[in-house]
Amino acid sequence: MSSTIEVHNPATGEPVGTYPVHTADDVRAAVERARAAAGWWDSLGFAGRRKRLDAFRGVMARRMHQLAGIVHQEMGKPHSDAALEIAMILDHVAWASRNAEKVLGRHKLKSGALTLHLAGTVEYRPLGVVGVIGPWNFPVATPLGSIAFALAAGNTVVFKPSEYTPGVGAWLVDAFNQVVPEHPVFQLVTGDGSTGAALCRAGVDKIAFTGSTATAKRVMATCAETLTPMVAECGGKDALIVDEDANLDAAVEGAVWGGLANAGQACIGTERVYVHQKVYSAFLEKLTAKVSDLRAGADTAAKIGPITMPSQIGVITGHISDALTRGGKVVAGGGETVGQVVQPTVLVDVPDDAPANQEETFGPTLTVRSVSDIDEAIRLTNASRYGLGATVYAGKRARDIASRIRSGMVSVNAVFANAILPTAPFGGVGDSGFGRIHGADGLREFTYPHSVVRQRFRPPLALTTFDRDDKTDTLLTKIVALVHGRG
Ligand code: NDP
Repeated sequence: MSSTIEVHNPATGEPVGTYPVHTADDVRAAVERARAAAGWWDSLGFAGRRKRLDAFRGVMARRMHQLAGIVHQEMGKPHSDAALEIAMILDHVAWASRNAEKVLGRHKLKSGALTLHLAGTVEYRPLGVVGVIGPWNFPVATPLGSIAFALAAGNTVVFKPSEYTPGVGAWLVDAFNQVVPEHPVFQLVTGDGSTGAALCRAGVDKIAFTGSTATAKRVMATCAETLTPMVAECGGKDALIVDEDANLDAAVEGAVWGGLANAGQACIGTERVYVHQKVYSAFLEKLTAKVSDLRAGADTAAKIGPITMPSQIGVITGHISDALTRGGKVVAGGGETVGQVVQPTVLVDVPDDAPANQEETFGPTLTVRSVSDIDEAIRLTNASRYGLGATVYAGKRARDIASRIRSGMVSVNAVFANAILPTAPFGGVGDSGFGRIHGADGLREFTYPHSVVRQRFRPPLALTTFDRDDKTDTLLTKIVALVHGRG
């Protein structure tokens, strides 16, 4: 270990912990330990792993407020929101451990007309060692969305948390090791980007990366050196559409929580709102009233906490001031910034090509725009290099609108619904990344399919042989015409 990182409370600036910057050798050693433990963990089977993961979940549930305290200290979100984050992910951990066998265990494969003599099975086997690189914004929920699924599938895990939230990572690993003391099944490495890069090069079988698109490109380039596969859960620029027959109070509630919860520091945070012209004024009036009642602060009474990364404050205020120079107007807030606290802000009349409508702001801001019809709302929603989530508040057209949005996820008449439902795959398209966490897809992401196909009896038509005669070939031609030729 050559150096350390010091973590500061974003509300007060006080130091809250010092952690080692693990070197490439440290990381490689952790991966080797994980490799040695992988056989034992796999040998526990689904039932054995479920028992341990359920016990881990129990520790997290019982000590939820202790963990929430560390989240609050390290990244600044209100304690109750930190507890909510933990409560939500516990459901996913439970789902992963309860459903791993059903999703990944051995399944029979169907045979076809020419393959009746064959009986196949497929099972999904663990990859071995999974490296998880996590962000700081949901430092419990986001990494556990990969970790719990990778573990349930039978992999061991080496976790590199964000340099802003290493204490959360340390807590999770300590809690797990209390219920799995035998082998280093889940380990922690701390440090900065160089530690993450070292993890990509350390011989892991897959990297589960969650973070910005820019970093994902660097991670992918590093993984390419060793042909290490990765899942990339990156940023977004999610839109919320309000149709003319939407419940406006619910839509306002959704926009406020979707845009401002976690001080807007959510990958699936609402950043753009497109409202049908017929209800635009009514929506905006209700929205500004609600946002004007909200206050960001460094004190415990504030419902919105500080911005975690000091460097992000310039991005947020830059997007606001750029929008204003292009003719945008502030209807609530104004981006007032004291220390690391940025007040929630609603902007209107912001040109579609402004950074506030194109780039991830990752702060407590919303741009709101009237649209002449739903086609325009969908066109604007889809005019983004990102494609993570989207939200639709609508009545009879809700399903149709949702299906026309280019994104990995759409929430209808609720925000963040896809993140909450344990069976829903989570992930995006385009610059929002690839691969999925959560649900059955999230379990399969950390496995490889292994199929076995057995010949049950000699096929009446012997095809895979040099002894095949003309009669067989003629018969095959007839069967092919019969089975496939009518299309
Ligand atoms: P970053 O991209 O800055 O960092 C993500 C992780 O990558 C951190 O652990 C970071 O370490 C590490 N890292 C940095 N450089 C490298 C490198 N060269 N090689 C390997 N690892 C590296 O993202 P943030 O932590 O700032 O998180 C915010 C971003 O995450 C936003 O864009 C947000 O949208 C996205 N996000 C996406 C989610 C999703 O599921 N789609 C969920 C949550 C967030 P360190 O911090 O030590 O530098």
